[in-house]
Amino acid sequence: MKDSDVIVLEEPKLSLGDQFYIPQVLNGLGTTMKHMFRVLGGKDRVVQYPEEKREDLAIEKGGMLTRTYRGVHRLNKDEEGRVKCVACFMCSTACPARCIHIEADESPWADREKYPAKFDIDELRCIYCGMCEEACPVDAIELTHVYDIVGLTRQEMIFDKSKLLQVYDETVKNEPM
Ligand code: SF4
Ligand code: SF4
Repeated sequence: MKDSDVIVLEEPKLSLGDQFYIPQVLNGLGTTMKHMFRVLGGKDRVVQYPEEKREDLAIEKGGMLTRTYRGVHRLNKDEEGRVKCVACFMCSTACPARCIHIEADESPWADREKYPAKFDIDELRCIYCGMCEEACPVDAIELTHVYDIVGLTRQEMIFDKSKLLQVYDETVKNEPM
């Protein structure tokens, strides 16, 4: 390597203000004041939960509702009310948190080979990345807007097939696809 190829970087000189983080502190205070005046002026975005709930978790785009939030999963049903899942394991393979557990069985229906005899998702372990719904070839798994779920034990937060299908029933009318 030639000497001319070497780039020497000079450390930038910090002023006294920079050394004490004064510009950054003033910047932060400015942001705090801005929010304070918004709150005092009635333009805040504070939601008095649980009396009030956020209604802005979907936006209208080209005449269609589009999700802006990923919450609890649901397992979708087909027109005949059967679980759409064909137990292909694509979602559990794609899941970075390894929180989907599927047990496949021979399908009782003629239009598919397999169906999920068991389908569990650990909602506490999930990072709500949406990879599972991206991976699903038949749109059987979907994340909803539901965020207000509670459980007194870890076990309660492991959603099984019936619970995931129940979330579908509860959200099918008001969830954007
Ligand atoms: S949202 Fe992400 S972490 Fe959660 S189950 Fe799906 S793939 Fe796994
Ligand atoms: S939910 Fe979709 S990706 Fe997951 S096993 Fe069922 S069909 Fe496959």
